[in-house]
Amino acid sequence: MVTDKNLGSLIATDMTRCIHCTRCVRFGQEIAGIMELGMIGRGEHAEIITFVGKTVDSQLSGNVIDLCPVGALTSKPFRFTARTWELTRKASVSPHCGLGSNLTVQIKQNRVMRVLPRENEAINECWLSDKDRFSYEGLNSEQRLVKPMLKRGGAWREAEWQAALECIAGELKRVKEQHGAAAIGALATPHQTLEELYLLAKLTRGLGSGNVDFRPRQSDFSADGRTAGAPWLGMKIAELGKLDRVLVIGSALTKDHPLIAHRLRQAAKRGMQLNLINPFDGDLLMPVANRAIVAPSAVGGMLAQVVKAAAQAKAVAVPESLRGALERVTVSEEAQRIAASLASGKNAAVFLGNLAQHHPQAARLHAFAQELAGLLGAKFGFLGEAANSVGGYLAGAVPFGGTPASMSAAQMLSQPRKAYLLLGVEAELDTHDPQQAVAAMKSAELVVALSPYQHRALEYAHVLLPIAPFTETAGTFVNTEGTVQSFQGVVRPLGETRPAWKVLRVLGNLLGLEGFDYDSAEEIRREALGSGDVSAELDNRLRFAVLDSISGTRDSGLERIAEVPLYAADAIVRRARALQQTRDARPPVASMNRTLFERLGLRDGDRVRVRQGGGEALVFAAVDDRLPADCIRLAAARPETAMLGGMFGELSVQRVPAQQWMVV
Ligand code: SF4
Repeated sequence: MVTDKNLGSLIATDMTRCIHCTRCVRFGQEIAGIMELGMIGRGEHAEIITFVGKTVDSQLSGNVIDLCPVGALTSKPFRFTARTWELTRKASVSPHCGLGSNLTVQIKQNRVMRVLPRENEAINECWLSDKDRFSYEGLNSEQRLVKPMLKRGGAWREAEWQAALECIAGELKRVKEQHGAAAIGALATPHQTLEELYLLAKLTRGLGSGNVDFRPRQSDFSADGRTAGAPWLGMKIAELGKLDRVLVIGSALTKDHPLIAHRLRQAAKRGMQLNLINPFDGDLLMPVANRAIVAPSAVGGMLAQVVKAAAQAKAVAVPESLRGALERVTVSEEAQRIAASLASGKNAAVFLGNLAQHHPQAARLHAFAQELAGLLGAKFGFLGEAANSVGGYLAGAVPFGGTPASMSAAQMLSQPRKAYLLLGVEAELDTHDPQQAVAAMKSAELVVALSPYQHRALEYAHVLLPIAPFTETAGTFVNTEGTVQSFQGVVRPLGETRPAWKVLRVLGNLLGLEGFDYDSAEEIRREALGSGDVSAELDNRLRFAVLDSISGTRDSGLERIAEVPLYAADAIVRRARALQQTRDARPPVASMNRTLFERLGLRDGDRVRVRQGGGEALVFAAVDDRLPADCIRLAAARPETAMLGGMFGELSVQRVPAQQWMVV
């Protein structure tokens, strides 16, 4: 008898249908790089199985649903919820990672029921990451906010749109009059549409404040105003497969960019050598030629070593600007191997990942990586974190380049403002230092949270405005290679939800600002992007004079390594039920190497109290011998760690005896 298998929360089976074509098995071997399914037995005893006890939920596993020719593998969240002839299909673009995967969204009775890949060879080919495929469940979350809400006398009440917007306009004018325009700050996430980011920046500047930023997870803004254009991939996505040498700096590559990792995996099969400088190691599902796993504070130092070693390997002088910084750098064997690998290629590239972009020395990493690419004759780029990591710059949602030049996201939170406009931002999950961010919100006189969801802003906001997620509004994402992709809403907004561009337009009008009379999202896009050809605005070059040393920034004590987990990166995916039941969504643990584990007197199964700044978190401890000395890897963007400080700060760890677990 053929039995069905439990493959986890994403994929259901009807194994009586299986014809043993092994497409699902070969997908794992040839595309995903991980064998989640295999076949045992022969002839009529052949059977598709998982590895014992394993679930099928790697970052690309959902593609086997499309590949299976007989429907033996189906989508568990979608199964039995609709018949295919009941569904209408509409085109859309993913709002999650920087790739901008093309989607076909299937709808029944104004509800998104399923998401499938829309083929685009230049971007996602015929694949979808699981995040893009299954996140739609978050669109139908019970946490959806469907009516504006106002806090009066400490109690939340539903309000009419007009009343809520008039209240906000009045309060913004009051704050400006009493404290000056600079007391107003606007923060957005890079998952918002270009039109929304553009209008948020225009409205903030119209009020006389330049405090607008769409990079709340970034901590170093010293490159602001010194970049030649918007940071981007530095090449076309389709060209990734042709690279023969790659250096990735600071990235959870397969988690943060599943389909970029897939392109690089294909290149690795053809002989591409992948090199890595990272604070943690992990299975990249492809061969890694050389890896340097170092503490976050040592990433820059290792990169400096690679620059020096690459100059030696190429027999060229180190760039003048780095000469002082490199003078005393001693090159390690790891750095030498990485440099030798890169120098031996004909088509090399250097990429900065999400961790490098969030790093406290991000601008220096940028400068060193740029110089390294320059002396190797390699391409240089950024692996875009989110759908509009490029678009936010083009929309001017940054505190430089416009007038007045003002405060970055970090400054707005470290020097609290009197009023905040939060566009999609959940302060405790989307910022570099959630402890500081929530404290800033709590001290403000006005916090307006524009979000599709009711979230922890209930604790600190004064007005909640329900705005449409990407499926309920027209908009544009500019992906990491600079491709402008506009889309229409595919369902009507839920309840009294409104597209954020319309909300900002009305708010602009109520504030009496000029130029807020748009009839469509297209009109805003044209104003923001002109003809739509943005290629001239993509430029990674950073102007700097001379850099001193990049190493030696470590404080005493333990260092935190905090990446944003795959299914915690944005508001929609955080509410996608099936994805939240996968391995990647498990509660965060404090990982450290065995030496540190034993030094702290920990035993398997112990919990620890992690303290950072004035906050603490109680989590399980785990051993990961691939981590650098004196480092604790503990994820950010999770409610369990939202009371902690910065993603790379110093922290302390203490064992919590079992009898104290309940009282902590
Ligand atoms: Fe069976 Fe479908 Fe896998 Fe083919 S793709 S082996 S039919 S489960």
